[in-house]
Amino acid sequence: MHKKYVIAFDQGTTSTRTIIFDINGTIKGISQKELTQHYPESGWVEHNPMEIYKDQKETFENVIKETGINPKDIAAIGITNQRETTVVWDKETGQPIYNAIVWLDNRTKDICNTLKKDGLGTYVREQTGLVIDSYFSGTKLKWVLDNVEGAREKAETGKLLFGTIDSWLIYKFTKGKQHVTDHTNASRTMLYNIKDLKWDNTLLTALNIPKSMLPKVKTSSSNFGSVVFNGINIPICGVAGDQQAALFGQGGFEAGIAKNTYGTGCFILLNNGKDYVASKNGLISTLACTLPNEPTNYALEGSIFIGGASIQWLRDKMLLINQAQETEAICNSIPPLKDLYMVPAFAGLGAPYWDANAKGAIYGITLDIGKNEIIKATIEALAYQTKDVIQAMEEDCGKTLTTLKVDGGASANNYLMQFQSNLLNVVVERPKMLEVTALGAAMLAGLKAGVWTTNDITSIREVDQLFSPKMEEKTRNQKYTGWLKAIKKTKSIIEV
Ligand code: ADP
Repeated sequence: MHKKYVIAFDQGTTSTRTIIFDINGTIKGISQKELTQHYPESGWVEHNPMEIYKDQKETFENVIKETGINPKDIAAIGITNQRETTVVWDKETGQPIYNAIVWLDNRTKDICNTLKKDGLGTYVREQTGLVIDSYFSGTKLKWVLDNVEGAREKAETGKLLFGTIDSWLIYKFTKGKQHVTDHTNASRTMLYNIKDLKWDNTLLTALNIPKSMLPKVKTSSSNFGSVVFNGINIPICGVAGDQQAALFGQGGFEAGIAKNTYGTGCFILLNNGKDYVASKNGLISTLACTLPNEPTNYALEGSIFIGGASIQWLRDKMLLINQAQETEAICNSIPPLKDLYMVPAFAGLGAPYWDANAKGAIYGITLDIGKNEIIKATIEALAYQTKDVIQAMEEDCGKTLTTLKVDGGASANNYLMQFQSNLLNVVVERPKMLEVTALGAAMLAGLKAGVWTTNDITSIREVDQLFSPKMEEKTRNQKYTGWLKAIKKTKSIIEV
């Protein structure tokens, strides 16, 4: 009999979840635990790797118990994880030697500045697709080796291992048998050469990292070892970092497909096909999920720091709304805005501007402006910021986007989705099932385990709603020109 279920481990920044999908891609059960955040110093963010492993194990056991599913019917497990977060552990004891340093943590700013001063910026961009930034794992790993007592000596004698959260979970779940990762996670370390698909010796030397610490890099849909549950072997057959998993879950395994996740921040990824393009417009190049016997696909990525977070600001700091959901009716209740722009540069400006010192601002306030107009301008800012990134993507790849696939909490807002379609002049497509990140990981696993083919995967994904552009070109251009002027005024460095 064919096995009927695929499991996704979805290990995120704030929670750890296990989700069971049936062969139609329908969710049969979810179990979740919140993850403790540690802030030992300003700008530092840590997680306890043992808590992550325990929570993953517990949610896995709970969801099987709650759904009553027979573990023998589970074909495979797929893992998707918060990217870049760095764990170093002892090979013999399997114990971490320090907390996981989370992607948000910026303690390695100085190491990054030294790398920049040493002239490595162009090399990093061309070989890894990234910009030198404390966001990525490489400098975090160097920090652990330089700052944890005895770490460097142990690492040099082959006694320590490094991994992103996927590697760590696989190591623990396979009882230390597998030290592996996948292409998408490796491409976020700033140590992996995405042209040659190899760990990059120049960068390992520059950061003084022994190669013996690094996991073996595998195709995202392949065999990563097995989890034993009640004596039954369940293979781990899919691994991908969260944003690439979401792109895959949105059907983005072909060139030209783009997705935007409207969460706390917004993450836009475009599958750019098999030719590597280093961005000239402030974006990152990264590896998309890889499939056996298929060419490697690259993705262009743009991150917007403040997306839904600005709606939370309206609610928690400005006290203008009680719930994010109210914003849709408010936007629909007033006429189109005229020259009112809110630039939510609360944490600087991300892609494509990269201005860490910019601060948020509202432009165009007149006596008739009230709270509803401010709310509408805040919602519209998510769409304007997305357009900035999509334009940069189009310039980098020389192609025009026709459809944007959407997910994440704020994609539920119909006003925002229609405005996004109007502004981009593309169709915005929202799937019925918004858990696309977990679905992407499950799909990678299900493909390898023979549960699905890529054709099945395309048919599993059902569209909830399509939003087609309904704005005249002149209006679109006027509005966007106004936004660009607002951005110009917001930048901390005034251009001449
Ligand atoms: P994350 O995974 O980053 O925690 P989610 O995908 O759960 O984020 O989305 C939550 C975000 O979406 C919140 O910032 C919230 O303000 C915003 N949000 C949720 N529903 C709506 C809505 N109907 N309109 C606008 N924003 C919304």
